[in-house]
Amino acid sequence: MPSAPCDALIKQGYQFFSRTSSAALKPCMWCKRALAGGDMCYKHQFYGITSHRCVQMTPTLRCNQRCLFCWRSFEHEITGEEECSPDTIFSGIHKLQKKALAGYNAVLQNSVTKELWQEALNPNHVAISLSGEPTLYSQLPELISLFNQKGYTTFLVSNGTNPSILARCRPYQMYVSLTAPDNETYRKVCRPVGDTWELIKESLTLLGGQRSAVRITLVKGYNDHSPERYAAMLQESGANFVEVKGYMYLGYSRNRLVRENMPDHDLVRAFAAKIATTCDYRIKDEKQISRVVCMERIK
Ligand code: SF4
Repeated sequence: MPSAPCDALIKQGYQFFSRTSSAALKPCMWCKRALAGGDMCYKHQFYGITSHRCVQMTPTLRCNQRCLFCWRSFEHEITGEEECSPDTIFSGIHKLQKKALAGYNAVLQNSVTKELWQEALNPNHVAISLSGEPTLYSQLPELISLFNQKGYTTFLVSNGTNPSILARCRPYQMYVSLTAPDNETYRKVCRPVGDTWELIKESLTLLGGQRSAVRITLVKGYNDHSPERYAAMLQESGANFVEVKGYMYLGYSRNRLVRENMPDHDLVRAFAAKIATTCDYRIKDEKQISRVVCMERIK
């Protein structure tokens, strides 16, 4: 285990921490772009994260949702795995990130500067957000503590279905996804295994009192309605930031949605502006190429 999905994913550039678990990392497009001296991702613009020093990883690829917009495959579900320990994951980070980036360096024919390359080999930020739901990994709080002890900042991105685990995690910034204004839309867009809507609402209430963000992925024609309901839940959450982001027609999501389900940046911005009219969040920044708007709580 978990051979079938992993074989396909290895071809897509995933690096696995062990042969028996689905814990993996894969540098994102922005990491590679920054390494080549290009633009950084919107998290640099919004929060100061340096893209080429960011490790995008997950402690498990399992998930309890089947979101229409997810770029991962549902065809080869991971049904069981032997979890890696936090130590195994931590000790593999440098080696696997180097391995993954070395291939890219070769593609660029060594045009990456020495300085950027050295910085990339010394990552300082971990985005626990690659794919899968990280709270299904039983040692997530311990893994994040280990990253904290070793001086890494962490972004933890969760679908919010496990508030009891989230309550024990202390990342630098905690994200909870809110992809529907009501349970009916949630079931249609996220197709959860079980009845998890109330759990997501509970997770949102954990966000106050810590550095936190709510991520809304807008899928045109599916969840781009009822901005006042989103606003009411955001208001309750106490999160510092809200990212309203347009769905991108990428990966396996192309088997479930059509290109027209991608909202353009104007639609994303207009939706964020509507949310702002009935809660204490205001638009702080935006990045058009990523179709994302960052809102910040003003009181
Ligand atoms: S919660 Fe995340 S990993 Fe799980 S199906 Fe949805 S988008 Fe994919």
